[in-house]
This record gives sequence, structure tokens and C-alpha cells, in this order.
Amino acid sequence: MLPTIAVLGRPNVGKSTLFNRLVGRKIAIVDDTPGVTRDRKEAETRIAGRAVRLLDTAGLEEAAPETIQGRMRASSEAAVRESDLVLFVVDVRTGLTPTDRAFAEWLRRQTVPVILVANKAEGRLGGYAAMEAYELGLGDPVAVSAEHGDGIGELHDAVREHLPEEPPEDRGDADRPLRLAIIGRPNAGKSTLLNALLGEERMITGPEPGLTRDAVAVEWTDPTGGKVRLVDTAGLRKKARIEQALEKMSTAASIAALKECEVAILVVDALLGMDEQDLRLARLAEREGRAVVLAFNKWDAVEDRAATRRRLDDVLMASLAQLRGLPVVPLSAQTGRGVEKLMPAVREAYALWNRRIPTGELNRWFEAMIARHPPPLAEGRRIKLRYATMPKARPPTVAVFGTRAEQLPEDYRRYLVNGFREAFAMPGVPVRLNLRGTS
Ligand code: GDP
Ligand code: GDP
Repeated sequence: MLPTIAVLGRPNVGKSTLFNRLVGRKIAIVDDTPGVTRDRKEAETRIAGRAVRLLDTAGLEEAAPETIQGRMRASSEAAVRESDLVLFVVDVRTGLTPTDRAFAEWLRRQTVPVILVANKAEGRLGGYAAMEAYELGLGDPVAVSAEHGDGIGELHDAVREHLPEEPPEDRGDADRPLRLAIIGRPNAGKSTLLNALLGEERMITGPEPGLTRDAVAVEWTDPTGGKVRLVDTAGLRKKARIEQALEKMSTAASIAALKECEVAILVVDALLGMDEQDLRLARLAEREGRAVVLAFNKWDAVEDRAATRRRLDDVLMASLAQLRGLPVVPLSAQTGRGVEKLMPAVREAYALWNRRIPTGELNRWFEAMIARHPPPLAEGRRIKLRYATMPKARPPTVAVFGTRAEQLPEDYRRYLVNGFREAFAMPGVPVRLNLRGTS
């Protein structure tokens, strides 16, 4: 499904002309007389390098009842419902009309992202005339001339900011191996686990492990059928184990690996429990925005499993809120028990980490969150949140737009992040929140 962009506005502001300009072909019929009946046009095109579906709503107004509300409803509601972004067009030559204002007012109450397009702004005075559109409370107007092509580059930039990043599979690298890091403190069982994972499929390329730090690559096909590439194996090298250097070495190697990987397996020694050093690594992984799976190793040697597991859950709950719901796989790297559950958990975490939520679905959730708990005042003034987009995944990133959005207090941000993680079932996934204030 391509991202959908609807071009909205009252008759004669230049919607069809803009549509044609963006599509690059003459598809819509442009007519000087308002009221010429035209079907809704749609076309696939590229904007800012992205494939999108563009809807032209010109002509729909005329079919509707002769009231402003009636027109808006008919021409816009359906389009808004299926759109990820709206280009709301006004005409700076005629200036703002009551219909524009009513339209803008209605759009402000919708949760769809809106770019305000001040059309017919060609010539020396065009930019000045466009300023008037600020009054509509829909953010900075983008001044363009659909007819002459002025400002179309700026419009592309504005659209780019609002569209979700292209999913990796669309970039043609679906066959790329998943980049995995195995991190953990010394003796947690990382090398043993790697050997268990490699099993029969062992395939080590490059010089003998342990000779050159950077030239070793380990790649294999895991039981789920996907290719996996281990990043930075330095921490797994027996050779590097000089007593005093141990701790430093493995942390440094883990940090380097975290920068390169997509998913990190954090190996924790269940006999010792999750301690401060393990927590530090988990927090680092979160800060790097990686998906994390916890391998609770040496499970074979644990005596009281229930109590051990409970202690782990307590520590995670108390000290790792930012990775709430982190998947835990108890296993024994040595005997191999439970190891078969690890890669499926890694794939699952990877899928969630890559997941994108369509703008409509995201905003239904967003609206409900705001309705349940309206944002608090900031310095005595209202924070008015308007809509959310998901500009990127890997890790999931939610952008929230609204007046004074950047002043949202920490606990409300947490409320949104935790609510997002829960609503879209993303346990243990680091979630980023970008707050964008609009005027
Ligand atoms: P729609 O009803 O909103 O689809 O508007 P149209 O695209 O049919 O345009 C209405 C009129 O405005 C036509 O006469 C266009 O030629 C004119 N128009 C569209 N864009 C521009 C522009 O950038 N500058 C000027 N001066 N006229 C424009
Ligand atoms: P690394 O430093 O994290 O790479 O840890 P190693 O893989 O070298 O393992 C450290 C020690 O823990 C070795 O003596 C292993 O035999 C032992 N070990 C690793 N996995 C397990 C396990 O699942 N059960 C038990 N009982 N011992 C393990």
C-alpha cells in the first residue's frame, strides 16, 4: 500500500493544477469556471523520491449540498479517511474566504497531518501574500505556484518530512542478513551460545578467528530460514581474555557491536542473575535503539527456577522500564536446551522493530490517548496535540505534532510511549518520540 496524499480545498484554488504539477502529466481537467463537474482523479507518482498515491478532490464539492459544511463533508471526509497526508490548498490571490476558514477549522479537528499550501504565490509579492495563511492555524504555509512551478521543491521537502520512511524491503535488500550482536559480560556463555547457534551450519569466513579483530565474519542460516550475520565477534575471542582487561574489553566490544547490529542478544548468567553490568548493557542497547532479546543462560544449572525467574522479572520491572516487556528465553547454551527458541524470538523482535503503523490507525490510537488523558498545561498555557506520524521504524519512531508539543512533560511522554508499545504490541522494543511544535 502506497502512502496516500489528498489535495483538498475549496473550488478554484488550483487543486487540479497542483495535482497535474505533482504528477507531471496533464490528467485532471483544469477549468476556469467553478462548478465544472469532474470525477475524482487519482494517480501514482513520486514525491520527494517516494512512490505515493495522490488524490485530487476537485469537483467533488459540486455534488454536495449548498452549505459549506455539506461541501466539506462530501469532498473531504472520504478522502481524509483514506489519506496519510493532506495538502490543503488556499488561493493567495483572492485571499482567505470564510469557506477556507471553515475548512481549516474542520481540518484542525481531524487527526490527519496537513500541509498548508498557499497557491498562486508566483511573482514578487506572492511570498508576502502567502503570509496571510498563517492565520489558519495549520502551521507554516508553503508558498507555491502550481501553474508556474515555483515552490514545488519546498513542497516536496515538506511532504518528505511527513511521510513514513520507505520500508527496507522496498529498497530491494530483503535478502540482506539480519545483523546480530551477542553481548554480555565475560563468562556469561556467549561463545558457547554462538557455537550452539551455528550448529551444523557453521560457516566462518576470513582468517582464523582470533588473529585479526576486524576481518572475521560469521554468517549462517538459522532454523527459521533467514540469514544471520554476527557483527563484531571480538568479544567472543578466547585470545583476548587477559584477566584485568576482561571487563573493559567485553564492554567495549559490546558497544561496538551494538552500533552495527539490528538485534542484540544479551546473554545473562542465570546463576549470577541480572546485575548492574548486565543492566548497563541493556540500557546501552536501548539507547542505540536496538531490538533486544535476553538469553537467560545456564538454565540447566539453576536449582530454584521459579525463584530465579521471579528475581529476574523484578529487576527488569524495577530497573529497565525503557525496555518494558523485553523477551526472555531461558536456555542452556551448553546442553542446547531451549536454544531452538532463541532465533524465533530474535525474528519476532526484529519484525516488531521494523513495524510501521499506518497513519490512520496511529491517529485513532493517538486520539483515544488524548481523550483519556488530555496533556497538561505548560507554563499555564494549553498544549494542543494535533496528530502523530511514524516517520521511521528501526526503531519505531513516533512524531507528535501540535502547539507547544515540545513542552510536553516527561511523564506524559512516557504515557505516550508506553501506550504506543502496548496498543501495537511491541514489548521490549525501544520507542522514540519526536515532539514537533507548530504555531
Ligand atoms: P480547482 O478547482 O481547485 O481544482 O482549481 P484549478 O486547478 O481548476 O484552477 C483554478 C484556476 O486557477 C485555473 O484557471 C488555473 O489556471 C488557476 N491557477 C491554478 N494554479 C495557479 C497559480 O499557481 N497561479 C495562478 N495565477 N493561477 C493558477
Ligand atoms: P563468554 O565469555 O561469554 O564467551 O563465555 P563462554 O562461552 O566462554 O562460557 C563461560 C563458561 O560458562 C564456560 O566454562 C562454559 O562452559 C560455561 N557455560 C556456558 N554456557 C553454559 C550453560 O548453558 N550451562 C552451564 N552450566 N555452563 C555454561
